[in-house]
Amino acid sequence: MAERHCLNCGMSANAPRFELDQAPPLLRCAKCDQNLFLQHDGSCLTDDIAHHHETLPLALKKLDRLLLEGWRGYYRTLRVIIGGGLIREQTLGQLHYYQRQGLIRAYHQDSPNRGAVMVVLRD
Ligand SMILES: [Zn+2]
Repeated sequence: MAERHCLNCGMSANAPRFELDQAPPLLRCAKCDQNLFLQHDGSCLTDDIAHHHETLPLALKKLDRLLLEGWRGYYRTLRVIIGGGLIREQTLGQLHYYQRQGLIRAYHQDSPNRGAVMVVLRD
């Protein structure tokens, strides 16, 4: 279990530990009824998964770590630097899959920078 704080009223709640094998669980604040996993503080988490000589498996592992950190925190978006090669292609494929699974809301190229992608975790 992990603790989450309601950003609306400050109440604490015990939350199941977020993992990537499921869509965000429905967890209502006992006091104000907001969905605690969908609250965000508007912030963006950034990381570079492609420019430290990462292999493809390592880059995808870093992508998953970033998603988990984003969901376990209160971030609204992720900005992922993916470069221009195979890591970029595979990351976009993985994000497509995660979107279908309900793990992310949306993703789009960080125009005009093709080497980065913006991922929306929460609306
Ligand atoms: Zn609340």
